[in-house]
Amino acid sequence: MSELDELYQEVILDHNKSPRNYRIMNDANRKAEGYNPLCGDHVTVYLHLKDGIIQDVSFQGSGCAISRASASLMTVAVKGKRKVEAEDLFEQFRRLVTGALPSDQVPSLGKLAAFAGVVEYPVRVKCASLPWHTLRAALDRPETVASTE
Ligand code: ZN
Repeated sequence: MSELDELYQEVILDHNKSPRNYRIMNDANRKAEGYNPLCGDHVTVYLHLKDGIIQDVSFQGSGCAISRASASLMTVAVKGKRKVEAEDLFEQFRRLVTGALPSDQVPSLGKLAAFAGVVEYPVRVKCASLPWHTLRAALDRPETVASTE
């Protein structure tokens, strides 16, 4: 195993053991649930979206180490980002885990690049992508208009 692979594995182990932003968000204005029947991963993504910016993001769920670490790293990566930036990041991540991202573009993904090795395990691609699909579902849901009536 190369040094880089070891580093990547450490990132995934760390985020699986101590997932970041792992909580229910009571003031979320967006929420979506995702399920990966192939592995049994469940994830709920909570967002506080304001003026097109992800002010806060959190998740809860149960699943394998890959889905959990991916959700954790995703929340860190998209917090504070604009909706379009998060969507662009998802596209790059999708290309990374399917082997479609040119290797010179991998470093720009930062810690998300830890999932580069997933490409060799097709079943795991769905685990790693689940939180992102769920995030996009939450982002795409129309704004709920609060009513005072
Ligand atoms: Zn899984």
